[in-house]
Amino acid sequence: MELRRSLVTTQILDPRSGFEPTELELEVRWDPLTGHTARILPGVPLLSPGDFDLRRLAEETRPTCPFCSERIEETTPKLPPAILPEGRIRRGEAVLFPNLVPYSKYSSVSVYSPARHFLPLGELTPRLVADNLATQVEFVWNVAGHDGKAAWASVNANHMPPSGSSVFHPHLQGSVNPLPTTFQRLLAETPPERFRDYVDEERRRGSRYLGSIGSVDWLASFAPLGPAELRAFVFGIASPGQLQPDQVAELAEGISAALGLYEELGFQSFNLALYGAPQALEGYPLNLRMLCRPNVEPFYRSDATWLERLHWEAAVDISPEELAERAAGRF
Ligand SMILES: [Zn+2]
Repeated sequence: MELRRSLVTTQILDPRSGFEPTELELEVRWDPLTGHTARILPGVPLLSPGDFDLRRLAEETRPTCPFCSERIEETTPKLPPAILPEGRIRRGEAVLFPNLVPYSKYSSVSVYSPARHFLPLGELTPRLVADNLATQVEFVWNVAGHDGKAAWASVNANHMPPSGSSVFHPHLQGSVNPLPTTFQRLLAETPPERFRDYVDEERRRGSRYLGSIGSVDWLASFAPLGPAELRAFVFGIASPGQLQPDQVAELAEGISAALGLYEELGFQSFNLALYGAPQALEGYPLNLRMLCRPNVEPFYRSDATWLERLHWEAAVDISPEELAERAAGRF
């Protein structure tokens, strides 16, 4: 498989060196699955590690938090009995309930733990992630039994306000819908053998392949959608509802390792998507992307510019190969 990349150079008269002619470089890469392009600008600091006091924000938001133990029973909705007679799904410390905002026909929120209002990324242990993921798997499974037409499932995360999260208390979001999102459609239209070829090619090359945890393969994305993007692939199943308990544990171990890396890189906000397709889609592997978002701080620079929002092309400062070096030994 070809991993297509193109080096672009340009010249400026640089004010930082007496207006001497200076050569600048950027690299354009094509995603091997969907063809999306990305721009790699190593050495240009686009995002800065923050020193904002997240603990203080945690204390400010705690007294009115709808997901904290004192309020969660009264303030969060319940699923209709036809989907789940108990109304909410519980696993370990995790609790799942429907979303008040209908992003999808079946939209869920699952809190890692009502008792943990503040969870720095390094404290999202494999156990906490696995239990929360397990509530989402059960949600997808229950919805599938109730409505066969809602075949497009995904599990997602907005973590901390810069990622789009409106509630500080850490949580995941599930989506089960009769229609795919744009990215679910693009991935489902990709010939299934390309997924296998991509992972095999990266394993052979080695510079972005991070390893496997059980049945889950992990890579630093060749053409990332955003900063420090990691990808995971679970071959043999297409929907999160098909994840077996051991696969949930394996996937959670990798997600927890990735979040530890993000914390070490200086970040506390991230997005994640586990893209499911209909179970009947032959050969499609369940796959995940996760990336860092800027830190919480006054007048911060957003990482979503005209490039990301309107051209669907990310510009990132950490190269996938450097990311893989920083991630070594974790997967
Ligand atoms: Zn809370």
